[in-house]
Amino acid sequence: MLVLIRSTASETEVCDVLARAEKLRGRAVLFGRVGGPRVVRVEGASADEEMLRSVLAHVAVEKVLARDIPYVLASREVHPVSTIVRVGSAEFGGPALVLAAGPCAVESRDQLRRAAEAAVASGASLLRGGAFKPRTSPYSFQGLGVEGLHLLRETADEFGLAVVTEVMSPEQVPEVAALADMLQIGSRSIQNFPLLDAVGRQAKPVLLKRGMMSTIDEFLGSADYILSRGNPHVVLCERGIRTFDRAVRNTFDVVAIPLLKQLTHLPVIADPSHATGQASLVRPAARAAAAAGADGLIIEVHPDPARALSDGPQALRPAELLALATELRAMLPAFGRSL
Ligand code: PEP
Ligand code: MN
Repeated sequence: MLVLIRSTASETEVCDVLARAEKLRGRAVLFGRVGGPRVVRVEGASADEEMLRSVLAHVAVEKVLARDIPYVLASREVHPVSTIVRVGSAEFGGPALVLAAGPCAVESRDQLRRAAEAAVASGASLLRGGAFKPRTSPYSFQGLGVEGLHLLRETADEFGLAVVTEVMSPEQVPEVAALADMLQIGSRSIQNFPLLDAVGRQAKPVLLKRGMMSTIDEFLGSADYILSRGNPHVVLCERGIRTFDRAVRNTFDVVAIPLLKQLTHLPVIADPSHATGQASLVRPAARAAAAAGADGLIIEVHPDPARALSDGPQALRPAELLALATELRAMLPAFGRSL
């Protein structure tokens, strides 16, 4: 059983609810952060009239959820007001669509600078780029590691951008958080629970990418891992799921964008690069995502895609990114949005 605590509850009131729950059932665990919505999990409890009455009677209790559900803190039912996540000058979930652009992997200072130039020219506010790369083959380029993080920081500062980059293990969290503005949890890590725990216990915003095999419930369950550890700054990213069709790299679940926005108060962005795997499909997929209400887009751009060390086939050239940004600028006002 889950008990939702009001965000206005005092510490004494919260302790009181915990004590009541413990008296009834033996063990109660508190999740969430002071000043935000919190959840008490009452272990081993099923819907029990006596307990419902007793716990509900408390002024600090917003709601009692009689069954275990994978997500609570991410739920719009629990928190109807849309969350805005601020990263540098970007406001995910605000009126403007946020653009993050950059290479799949940081390869060199020159490559990153040219990608950052394209990002700025296209109106991006974040520079993306992997320093630690999760590659299918151990023989593929694994990223520049800490050197890549420093290049990201220096280049982003030079161009007035914020940095979003992937963190692959709990041990990497402190060094990535020290240099990045937003920590990316990749598709392959969505159920790496110790990693979710670690990014949930630090303060930098998190970009949580949907797993290639995640259901919507699993995706939001992973978001709740982060929220329940105290970090409220979570942005979700639809990046395509694996289906039977191998004609494209992934199947872009565009309907997941409005569906997630109904189910959760968290901002939802899309990654048309990984969703399609082909540069020629990135622009139409990006337009579809924007029309479907995405709060942002994260797009791979490379000055020389043919020579990219990872994901070259899906990388836009700088001019293609610029053309897409021009299309979005023309299109978004029809939906009351801007870039
Ligand atoms: C990436 O953004 O480069 C990446 C590896 O994405 P995903 O985790 O969605 O595959
Ligand atoms: Mn990539």
